[in-house]
Amino acid sequence: MSKRQPRPLAVRPSDFDVFRNDLLDVSDEACSGEIECATLDILRAIGEDVTREGLLDTPKRVARAYAELTAGYHVDPVHLINDAIFDVNYDEMVIVRDIDFYSLCEHHLLPFLGQVDVAYLPNGKVIGLSKIPRVVEMFARRLQVQERMTQEIAQFLDEALHPLGVAVVVEGLHMCAAMRGVKKANARMVTSAMLGTFKTKMATRSEFLRHIGREHAGF
Ligand SMILES: [Zn+2]
Repeated sequence: MSKRQPRPLAVRPSDFDVFRNDLLDVSDEACSGEIECATLDILRAIGEDVTREGLLDTPKRVARAYAELTAGYHVDPVHLINDAIFDVNYDEMVIVRDIDFYSLCEHHLLPFLGQVDVAYLPNGKVIGLSKIPRVVEMFARRLQVQERMTQEIAQFLDEALHPLGVAVVVEGLHMCAAMRGVKKANARMVTSAMLGTFKTKMATRSEFLRHIGREHAGF
């Protein structure tokens, strides 16, 4: 006596392709530009149906997103700070706190994001306040590692202003660590670059760290 097996549902989505005109428009030439075409390759490689509606414009969107997220390569640093450097006799510490940044880690092309605190001790020159977040953005919108980004921001300000000292502290949340592997979702990475008096003078460094609430950080 054989048990009656339920018949499997005999509906295959591909059987209905005959009703879809839009499939005719999709060919191997459905991309232009290297990022678009590479994205199409990735979608195929992970086994996706690149002709389904939700993915039709994905290669274009990804190309646009990468152009935006890596726009920092194309910023002219001289133009960026042009006519925003002023001669003044101000010799107290200038601090810009909690500058948001969004970057891409160069090891996984996944985002890392967080805040940057920047300080410098002027030596006759100051930079327009709004320019410091732009400098951060210029270095964040590239493929990066947080340690190098921290150094690059500090070095750039050092060369532009020749101040007595520059300090940069970056706190970042890395999606490559949060989403995969060890899944340390809340682990933040903190990096710092201390130049000039921030490196040589304990009192200057302590004042800065106190201002950004990290007096016990041990930098
Ligand atoms: Zn990574």
